[in-house]
Amino acid sequence: MSKTIKIFHFFPDKLNLYGDIGNVTALKKRAEWRGLNVEVVNVTASEKVDLSEADILFIGGGSDREQKIATLDIFNVQEEFRALIEDGIPALMICGGYQFLGHSYVTADGTELETLNILDFRTESKVDRLTGNIILESEQFGKIVGFENHGGRTYHNYEPLGTVVSGYGNNAEDGGEGIHYKNMIGTYLHGPLLPKNPKITDYLIDKACERKGYSVPPVYENNEIEERAAEVMIDRLLSKNK
Ligand code: GLN
Repeated sequence: MSKTIKIFHFFPDKLNLYGDIGNVTALKKRAEWRGLNVEVVNVTASEKVDLSEADILFIGGGSDREQKIATLDIFNVQEEFRALIEDGIPALMICGGYQFLGHSYVTADGTELETLNILDFRTESKVDRLTGNIILESEQFGKIVGFENHGGRTYHNYEPLGTVVSGYGNNAEDGGEGIHYKNMIGTYLHGPLLPKNPKITDYLIDKACERKGYSVPPVYENNEIEERAAEVMIDRLLSKNK
């Protein structure tokens, strides 16, 4: 019997900066390479969506304008979303999606948007944006590479996804980037993140399998191109910083 994983992709029509949709493609491909069957459910209006079917949640990033529209919509599933995160559903929330998890987001023009309040943190945006390639170090995933472009500064006391080696991260102050809470990862890294960082992709797939009670199929081992691309980026960025 084929093992199926359902990825719920929120607001692909509004939140898809810097090819964030590539994260969904990477999840699908790597899961298929491991013999899993993948269905992607695109959620453009959350009102009628049944989240009990979801195995992985994904939200990308967007401009403040699009984020305002999406914020109103996602409140329709606030409680279900919270329950799934607490229950350990694997989830990836990029940039604007990450900002949704806290209790408020103040846009660069000073508008305070109430956000999902799943975790206890806030984000405030400034007009000067934190932009550029970024490298993180993580105990679990090793080096993580990506690209950031955010006005938001996020402050929290949870475990970060990684420590900034080069770039800005959560707020350009405390050296942390992103958040790792249960099996949910929030991060400012676009690029998109997952094609460049297959260990994170495999982690999300593993957790989805574990939660479904599937025996976890062995990972696809040939990551030569991804590793080489990350090495080149790290070399260039670190030599530029010297
Ligand atoms: N609008 C948010 C910010 O500027 C998120 C941007 C993004 O998703 N890249 O911080």
